[in-house]
Amino acid sequence: MQLPHWINGQAEHAERRIDVSNPATGEVFAGVASGDGATVDRAVAAASDAFPQWSALPNTERARWLEKLATALEERLEEFAAAECRDGGKPIRLAREIEVPRAVSNLRFFAHAATQFASESHHGQAGLNYTLRAPLGVVAAISPWNLPLYLLTWKIAPALAAGNTVVAKPSEVTPLSATMLGELAAEIGFPAGVLNIVHGSGSEAGEPLVVHPQVKAVTFTGSTAVGRRIAGLTGPVLRRTSLELGGKNPTLVFADSDWREHLDVLVRSAFQNSGQICLCGSRMLVERRIYPEFRDALVERASALRVGDPRLEDTDLGPLVSQAHFDKVLAAIGRARDEGANVLCGGAALDRPGWFIAPTVIEGLGPDCTTNREEIFGPVVTLQAFDDDTHALALANAGDYGLSACVWTRDLNRAHRLAAQLRAGMVWINTWMQRDLRTPFGGSGASGLGREGGMEAMRFFTDVRNVGIHLE
Ligand code: NAP
Ligand code: MG
Repeated sequence: MQLPHWINGQAEHAERRIDVSNPATGEVFAGVASGDGATVDRAVAAASDAFPQWSALPNTERARWLEKLATALEERLEEFAAAECRDGGKPIRLAREIEVPRAVSNLRFFAHAATQFASESHHGQAGLNYTLRAPLGVVAAISPWNLPLYLLTWKIAPALAAGNTVVAKPSEVTPLSATMLGELAAEIGFPAGVLNIVHGSGSEAGEPLVVHPQVKAVTFTGSTAVGRRIAGLTGPVLRRTSLELGGKNPTLVFADSDWREHLDVLVRSAFQNSGQICLCGSRMLVERRIYPEFRDALVERASALRVGDPRLEDTDLGPLVSQAHFDKVLAAIGRARDEGANVLCGGAALDRPGWFIAPTVIEGLGPDCTTNREEIFGPVVTLQAFDDDTHALALANAGDYGLSACVWTRDLNRAHRLAAQLRAGMVWINTWMQRDLRTPFGGSGASGLGREGGMEAMRFFTDVRNVGIHLE
């Protein structure tokens, strides 16, 4: 199978290709076009040419196109779910029941947003001020491999809804569903050049895209290291940049919580998608009184997770996405051992082809250990005990990241107090990843700059002009 770029509504194959693997077997099943600066130039030119017409469409028309794409995707849900499963090793149930439906919702939500977006006016002493919001032009969307279609649509939908045209570069590790979306857009007659998909490595295709002089904004989701690199490139040219980066999220479990009844959610929050979700809680902080029983229950549940063929309906966890990532996660487990960790379960690869690692629970490491400071992004959680709220907060806020946090308690005062004190862009109380697309999404510190979601995204993708009128 050969996966082309989609530029100006056309498939563009390339001589140079990058291998695309199935992580459940380690086999190469496709080659994806490997783009470079020249590919990016063609895509940006197509997007620039398409911009005047697309941005001039009535909002209702742009909404209609996004709706149409959403409906077409929904009709192909099974195919897209199978693609995510094959390319990323995602359990088929997760792809079918959560991720592809959420991609559909992203398109639909921002179709509605296109017709609901409004700007402010301020009437008072300084006369009448009203604010205009115009689309920016061509925007670049760079997305990671962990939620390929979901995060791609999360970026392109608001960008398109606001009237921009897009050049998207998905991760070379999981290019299949993005290619299929490019094809689907062409099939339904989406206006050519409005949505372009360029494949290739970060350095060869990603960098020329973010520094391209005609690109007006960059929306990036990925690792903190690459986020820093991109900020270093877009900073000097003063390009608007949104960075959604890594996390090392704490889950605070208090003795008064209903943790036993919600153990399934707690386990999911740690291990869903084999821990390859930026919002997974990788540091479990547990009140000392319940620590031994919580630890034992968690280890029991983690050990019972069915790890295996992602195509099977009853598989809980699939493989890690690539050989490189598998090696990185195993190295992190090795480093935890070197730091003195007690590995309570897992801690090793499965003895089978593909890149599987058993769900791993670690204890015995403090907040200063590398294991508790650096993102691992695999099926690995650490446990730490705390004595009281102050101690829990200190452990939770240790480190450089600030993406999300969960608090499990029945004490409402404590929940609200901690929600205000935790360093995190998103806090969940007695739940995890309960998403409402209207809410701001993003983190602070090493977890990034800016917010996505709802009207925050529509604002990011528009240029602001205030008009002040003197009133007699
Ligand atoms: P990554 O290595 O940073 O890559 C992300 C994207 O950037 C890929 O498309 C990658 O292309 C591209 N890229 C790499 N180097 C680049 C460069 N120099 N210039 C421009 N683009 C470049 O991240 P990943 O490993 O795919 O994803 C996992 C990371 O994403 C984790 O750290 C996770 O926490 C984070 N994440 C954050 C959120 C959030 O919302 N905060 C959500 C999901 C994931 P190639 O893959 O083709 O090299
Ligand atoms: Mg793959």
